[in-house]
Amino acid sequence: MVMCKCGRAALMKTSKTSKNPERRFYTCPQMRSKCKFFVWIDPPVNSPPSPELGFHKAPNHSSSIEVRFEELKHEIRRKDAALVMSWCILVGLLVLILVVVLISLLLKPS
Ligand SMILES: [Zn+2]
Repeated sequence: MVMCKCGRAALMKTSKTSKNPERRFYTCPQMRSKCKFFVWIDPPVNSPPSPELGFHKAPNHSSSIEVRFEELKHEIRRKDAALVMSWCILVGLLVLILVVVLISLLLKPS
């Protein structure tokens, strides 16, 4: 319960103006009171976009290049890791084949 400045229970109303359609607010229950109590309940209808959104919509030139550079660095690092991984697998397979051949040679009855 929200109390008005004049001590009465504040009245919840809904704005019908074009600037604030369906926006609720608290006001004084006395129409011609002098307290002029008025508090919005809902956030502004056409609230300005947040700085983060503005940044994504129109990124500044140098920072977008920086972001691209970071992405590329990340990509190269990822490809390097993949390359190293495939080399490890290849070498591992070769060693395995070598071991199998050696074992079969050693176990061959002479
Ligand atoms: Zn009042």
